[in-house]
Amino acid sequence: MLGPTDDIPPSMLTVQGLVSPIPSFDARMLDLARWLSERYVAPLATVIDRIVPPRVASEESEGAASAGRPGGRSGGRSGGRREVPRPARWGEYEGGPALARAIRSASAGAFVLRPIPDDEAGAAVDAVSACVAAGRRAIVLVPEATPMPYTARAIRDAFGDLVAMFVGGDKRARYRMWLDIAAGGYDVVVGTRPAVFAPLADLGLIYVSRESHPALREDRAPYYHVREVALERGRREDAVCVLAALCPSTETAAHGLPEVAPRGRRWAKVEVVKPGLEGRAPRVVQALRQTRRAFVFAPLPGYGVAQVCRNCASPAACASCGGVLRQAEGEVRCVVCEALGTCAVCGGLDFGIRRGGAERVEEWVSAVAPVPVSRPPSPRLPAASGEILVGGSEDVRDLGPGGLDLVAILDVDRAARRPGLTAVERALATWMEAAAWAIPSGRVIVQTSHPAEPAVQALVRGNPGRFHERERRRRAQAGFPVGAPTYRVIGDERLGSEVGGFDVITALVTGLGGRTVCLLALEPGRVPAFGAAVREMAARGVVERVEAEPHL
Ligand SMILES: [Zn+2]
Ligand SMILES: [Zn+2]
Repeated sequence: MLGPTDDIPPSMLTVQGLVSPIPSFDARMLDLARWLSERYVAPLATVIDRIVPPRVASEESEGAASAGRPGGRSGGRSGGRREVPRPARWGEYEGGPALARAIRSASAGAFVLRPIPDDEAGAAVDAVSACVAAGRRAIVLVPEATPMPYTARAIRDAFGDLVAMFVGGDKRARYRMWLDIAAGGYDVVVGTRPAVFAPLADLGLIYVSRESHPALREDRAPYYHVREVALERGRREDAVCVLAALCPSTETAAHGLPEVAPRGRRWAKVEVVKPGLEGRAPRVVQALRQTRRAFVFAPLPGYGVAQVCRNCASPAACASCGGVLRQAEGEVRCVVCEALGTCAVCGGLDFGIRRGGAERVEEWVSAVAPVPVSRPPSPRLPAASGEILVGGSEDVRDLGPGGLDLVAILDVDRAARRPGLTAVERALATWMEAAAWAIPSGRVIVQTSHPAEPAVQALVRGNPGRFHERERRRRAQAGFPVGAPTYRVIGDERLGSEVGGFDVITALVTGLGGRTVCLLALEPGRVPAFGAAVREMAARGVVERVEAEPHL
C-alpha cells in the first residue's frame, strides 16, 4: 500500500486486513523506489520487492522485545584478531581536507576517492568516524561478502555495537537485522548491494568501497548499480557520497565529481618488461629468486592449452564440440563442454601442450623461489614467514595491506584479447589492486609487449586519468558513450521496427532464437519517454524483458 488515491480501478476490493504492522518503507524510500523504477525501466512493484528483504513473519513478534536493544543480536565480533587500520593521512591528499570538512559539517556532496593503497580501510573508518561524530549515520557498501572484505572488518572492529553487519546470513538473520536497523538500533550499516537501501534515518554518509567492482551491479531486475543509487540517495537525503577505488571506473570519472587523490606517488615503482620465453622475463625470474613475500598474477587457469595431436599432427580441438582443450590437474578437457580431450580426427589422447597457465607458473616459480610457493584454494595474502602465491583475478580481493616485496603481473596483453567493451578496464582495476599489495619500497613488474598501452601506462603512473580519456573516446566511437543510459530490450519480431521510431544514440538490433534483441543507448533526458514507450509495448506483448545497464 503506497497511499491514498482517487484513481480507483473498477475491480478494486476492500482492504481485508493488515499483514504486517512494520512499514516496509517511508515516503523518502518510496520516492527513491520511483526514481529506480523510472531510471532502470522496471515495474515499481519489482523495485519495492528488491529494496526490502524477504519477510520472516515470526521475527516481527519477537522484534518488539529486541527493538531498542542495539547490537543485542548482531553477533558482534566473531573471533579472529581485531583489524585496526592506520588512520588515513588526509593531509597528503589533494582535496582531502574538503572531504573531511564536508562530512564533519554534515553537508551534502559527492566525491571520488583514490586512496593511498594502505589507506583503503583507514579512509573508510575515518569517514564514518567523522559522520558519527557529527551526529549522523553512515552506510558502507562493499562488493563481496566472502571472504569478508578487510574494509568491512575494519569498520566492524572500529565501531563495535554501533555497526549492523548486513553481509550474507540466512533469510531470518537478514530480516532480523533489517528490523533492528529500521528500529534505529545502529549508527552504521556495512553491507553488500541491498544495504544501499538500509532503512537508516539521519543519513550523513554513503561510502562505496571498490566502486568499480562488477559485483556492485545487481544482476536481476531492476539491474541497478550501487554507485548510481548511492549518488541519488545521497542527493535526496543531503548526505555525503564517497565513491572510493584504487582505480575508479570510467563511469565515475565521467561524473566530474571532485577527486580526492594522493598528492605524491605512494605506490611501489612499476617496471615494465617484455615477456621472455614461455612468458618468463629474466628480470621477473631474478626478482623471484630474491623475494620473501610475493604475489604472481597469472590469469590463465590450468597448466596449458593443447596445440596439436601427437598421433596425427592435426590441430587440437574437442571431438564433441570443437572447443579449446586445456590441461589442468593432470587431465586434458574441453573448456566449453568439459569432455575428456580426444582428437577429433584420429581419437588420439596425447597432445602437444603450450604451457603457460597458473599451474605451470607455480611449477617454474617453485623451481627458482627461496620460499614456499602455492596456488591458494581461497583468496589470502602470502604468509608473514615468507611465501609466494600464484593466483588470478578471483584471488585479488580487499584483503588489507599486502606488505609484499614483489608483485609480478605476468600477462597483461591477454586482457586486450578478451571480448567486451569494458574488459580492459576491469583488468586494469584488478592489476592496480594487486600492485597495491607491494610496499612503497617494493617492486611491481609487469610483462607486456605493448608498454605504451594506456592501461599499462595507468598502472605505471598509479593514475588512470589518461586511460579514462581514451576509454571515453573508444566507447563513444562504439556508440555507447559513458554516462548514456543503456538497455537490452528483448521482444518479438515487431520490436525491431518499433524501436526505429525512438530517439536513440545507438540501436543494435539482432534476432536470436525467434526473438528480437535490441541494445540501446539513450540521452539521459530521453529515459522517461523511453520507459513510457516500453511499458506500452509490454502491454501489447511486443516487449518481454528490459535489462538496464547490461555488461558491455
Ligand atoms: Zn567440447
Ligand atoms: Zn589425432
